[in-house]
Amino acid sequence: MTVTLPSRARVVIIGGGVIGASVAYHLAHAGWTDVLLLERDRLTSGTTWHAAGLMTCFGSTSETNTGIRLYSRELYARLEEETGQSTGFRPVGLIEAAADTDRLEEYRRVAAFQRHLGLEVEEISPREMAELFPLARTDDLVAGFHVPGDGRVNPVDLTLSLAKGARQLGVRVVEGVAVEDVLTRQRGAVSEVVGVRTSAGDVECDVVLNSTGMWARELAARSGLVVPNQAAEHYYLITDTIEGIDPNGPIFEDPASYGYYREEGGGMMVGLFEPRAAAWSVGGIPRDFSFGTLQPDWDRMTPFLETAMARVPVTLDAGVRTFFCGPESFTPDLAPAVGEAPGIRGYFMAAGMNSVGVLSAGGLGRVLAHWITTGRPDVDITGFDVRRFQAYQADDDYHAARTTEILGTVYAAHTPGKQLHTARNVLLSPVHDRLVAQGGLLREVSGWEGADWFAGSGVTPEAEPTWGKAPWFAQWETEHRTVREGVGLMDMSFMAKFEVGGADAEQVLARLCSGPVTAERGKITYTHRELHRRGRLLRRRLRHRPRRHARPAAARGPGRRGADGVRRDHRPRPAQRPGTPVTRRAVGAHLRRPVDRGVPVPDRTPPRGRRRRRAVRADHLSRRVRL
Ligand SMILES: Cc1cc2nc3c(=O)[nH]c(=O)nc-3n(C[C@H](O)[C@H](O)[C@H](O)COP(=O)(O)OP(=O)(O)OC[C@H]3O[C@@H](n4cnc5c(N)ncnc54)[C@H](O)[C@@H]3O)c2cc1C
Repeated sequence: MTVTLPSRARVVIIGGGVIGASVAYHLAHAGWTDVLLLERDRLTSGTTWHAAGLMTCFGSTSETNTGIRLYSRELYARLEEETGQSTGFRPVGLIEAAADTDRLEEYRRVAAFQRHLGLEVEEISPREMAELFPLARTDDLVAGFHVPGDGRVNPVDLTLSLAKGARQLGVRVVEGVAVEDVLTRQRGAVSEVVGVRTSAGDVECDVVLNSTGMWARELAARSGLVVPNQAAEHYYLITDTIEGIDPNGPIFEDPASYGYYREEGGGMMVGLFEPRAAAWSVGGIPRDFSFGTLQPDWDRMTPFLETAMARVPVTLDAGVRTFFCGPESFTPDLAPAVGEAPGIRGYFMAAGMNSVGVLSAGGLGRVLAHWITTGRPDVDITGFDVRRFQAYQADDDYHAARTTEILGTVYAAHTPGKQLHTARNVLLSPVHDRLVAQGGLLREVSGWEGADWFAGSGVTPEAEPTWGKAPWFAQWETEHRTVREGVGLMDMSFMAKFEVGGADAEQVLARLCSGPVTAERGKITYTHRELHRRGRLLRRRLRHRPRRHARPAAARGPGRRGADGVRRDHRPRPAQRPGTPVTRRAVGAHLRRPVDRGVPVPDRTPPRGRRRRRAVRADHLSRRVRL
């Protein structure tokens, strides 16, 4: 069948999974109905069709995340009334089991935090858990957390309901059309979206949303963007019928056993988050992969499966109806890639859902629609911001390595001091060797190896994660006192650094910053970046140090956020060099002492050439170390 597309739409949404459908629905409700959703195959044909449908709010320590989940839950409960299409939402409740005291401590804190944000959750005893979910062994558990309002949803019905709601308000949903590229044109120092190239011709538009799930990385890369989400094998098993199982029983989760459990078609679904996972199709996702499944790796999964099934022993005898493996995409830090992409105005991302795309879709759709229609998100999305990613994360070896670990962190205990171990030692500051020589306990900070604390010269730092007072507290205390009472120098190379260049560099910074930025050469200005824009006050710290034709500046946070912010907010002319990222070629150091203004900063102009400049900056630092 030949598809005829409109020649223009205000917004084109690429991908008809649960995320794309939700953004379409919320755009329509925000009054933007000139929206075209293009789906390569059929709605839900990527990952959404096989999701387990857990709609659970418990477990997040982010206010934004909790708000997104609570909104999703509320929306899924009422959507049928509006659209006539059920979402299958049933508030059967959730029980989260704490199998050890570490997890108990963590879940108590999570519960207190989320209760404060409006989630109804109470701690219950192992006996109460057994009453609510009699098929689980609870005698060896420490406690549980009961969330009566959580439940399950049918992911396909939910997507169709969202798409129907969008259509009812005027959104066009077209299946069987693949977007091949996003078309842009240069406008000043950034480019902007002008349309999409599809298998059925070009469509002009002002905004695109890349919500293509596990394909998002490749589509984004065609526009030069880094969106490092990677598909991984993801499993659940469904048993044969179990006599007497309650179809309205709660969901039971025991992260220590790697498993979640709920009734499915008269049997029990045993979902898995194994501690060491496997990436799938690292080089690229097949374009024709629709309603697809993967061959389960029984050998790899059997030990985890046995542990999970032992928590609900009846599953061991029930017989296996299906052992399902499907791909789901994960990001290197387990947070989604959301928001307007760096350097391309009108290019929005919503991908890398880390196995919670269904329960996040409602809230994320609302946030993105607000962002697209008003130009700003209305919640703090710092942790989700697609601009946090960096070029080194576009590497296939990096994706493969980090994905094996990150999936397992979903059900790991999140004891303070825990670290990711894969894909490390990628970004090293020029003083890295000295950090190691001083016994620095290295931690990943925006991809850089930063020292948390120092064990002392030649001593190997050891740090068992703990909720209690850490054994390294004494070292920390000494460092703290040194900075408070004496003087200390910290390697802060992980901070984003960018150069504002051109003849108007000083005016650009003066407009962006709250403090005066005019200073003699050799001085550093420490100021906030403060903008009053559309009624919102933004603050970010900036340090800048004048040179003749450039003003190097540093801002907190990784990736391209700082530089991109300057470009967007200032709307510079192409001849200017506003916000050029230089993070990787410049060291960053903080000199701290009670009155630090009197310490001289070496005055020098770096010579030409990247390698020499880097060496000289490292030398600067070492001179300052000796101060
Ligand atoms: C076994 C398993 C269990 C899960 N259980 C849960 C759960 O209980 N709860 C939960 O919240 N999440 C769960 N998830 C995760 C959830 O399924 C995903 O996070 C979610 O479906 C992602 O939705 P999406 O819209 O981002 O991606 P997708 O559903 O993959 O949608 C992307 C769409 O884009 C289309 N597309 C791709 N490229 C193009 C192109 N170039 N042009 C046009 N269209 C294109 C694809 O065809 C696809 O339909 C589970 C996942 C798995 C694998």
